[in-house]
Amino acid sequence: MAGERARFEDRILVPLGERSYEIVLAENFVRLRHELAPLGLGRRAFVLTDRHVAPHYLLPVARALRATGLQVTGAILPSGEREKSLARYRQLLGLLLAAGLGRADTLVALGGGVVGDLGGFAAATYLRGIALVQLPTTLLAMVDASIGGKVGVNVTEGKNLVGAFHQPRLVYAALATLDTLPSREFRSGLAEVVKAGMIGDRRLIRHLEIELDPILRRERKPLAMAIARAVRVKVAVVSADEREAGRRMILNYGHTIGHAIEAATGYRRFRHGEAVALGMAAAAHLGTAAGITPREVGERQNRLLERAGLPIRVRALPGARIMGNLRYDKKIRNEKLRFILTPEVGSASVREQLWNEHLRHAIDSITMS
Ligand code: NAD
Repeated sequence: MAGERARFEDRILVPLGERSYEIVLAENFVRLRHELAPLGLGRRAFVLTDRHVAPHYLLPVARALRATGLQVTGAILPSGEREKSLARYRQLLGLLLAAGLGRADTLVALGGGVVGDLGGFAAATYLRGIALVQLPTTLLAMVDASIGGKVGVNVTEGKNLVGAFHQPRLVYAALATLDTLPSREFRSGLAEVVKAGMIGDRRLIRHLEIELDPILRRERKPLAMAIARAVRVKVAVVSADEREAGRRMILNYGHTIGHAIEAATGYRRFRHGEAVALGMAAAAHLGTAAGITPREVGERQNRLLERAGLPIRVRALPGARIMGNLRYDKKIRNEKLRFILTPEVGSASVREQLWNEHLRHAIDSITMS
């Protein structure tokens, strides 16, 4: 079994011209040094990680970096969304300067989406941009946050309002890191896997329907297949639309309402994936009301989300505040309120005009009285 595990590997190319990079899915960090070696990452590597991740994985990662001849320094942050702040970003720039990182050097983000987004934003802006390597350790970061080059921080006015596009040089996901991920975080990541299937891969949904129980037990083979398929959906979308001018917005399926729910509940009540699950349930309702999503498509999605332990209806959702946030977010970004709907399992379409009343009903549909 151990031998079999050590050999597991999958590679996915993100084709973006001279910014192309590979996503490597591996069992552990054993092969990391071989992946880093040909990239020319300078003389120094700065590893950004957090308190939950460092005790388990910092050592093998630092060892791999040193084995390629890099001098390694770094920082261990507390964990949590609050770390994705301008204050922490400023402090991080100071640490990079103090470590003497030059233009040719590299920032390595080892952790979940928080470390990836904050570290990525520092890498995008420090000395007008240095190399970034993403080593995602949460399911959400593996299938979503580490891919596509969006990096940034939160400000008091809202989430992810300050950021950049900065593609990594390599994404290397060691699946064994998921063994230490708390169950709630793992399930939250599964929401993004379901999303990927709903918008772009009918066979992924089938795979989840058959293998969800072993996946929840984190059995490697079915889990690796689910991750690889979800990654391919995201890669296909971002490589067709790097800067989110059009098609990339389908990745926001469940997110438009999900973000509004997160904001309306102060980012405390739900993990991101839980809010996205609620957002997908509401979007399915909206799609059915608009005559786009057949009822059984929404039911299939919701059954899967429920089996994954994700919420599709909850008590006491602040409906009016959610509606208000939906409009505010779009106004700030100077965008129209658009909804991603699923005409069938594995495909997505964008709708701009939807009745307010439908929207209100959709939010009611995920609220338990
Ligand atoms: P996170 O980084 O906060 O990680 C979740 C928790 O798990 C943290 O407590 C962390 O310390 C812990 N953890 C991480 N890996 C672990 C491991 N292997 N073992 C044990 N504990 C571990 O959260 P997340 O869900 O990974 O990411 C959420 C963030 O990602 C949000 O800020 C969101 O905005 C961002 N995001 C970005 C993009 C993008 O395109 N850039 C996409 C989706 C989400």
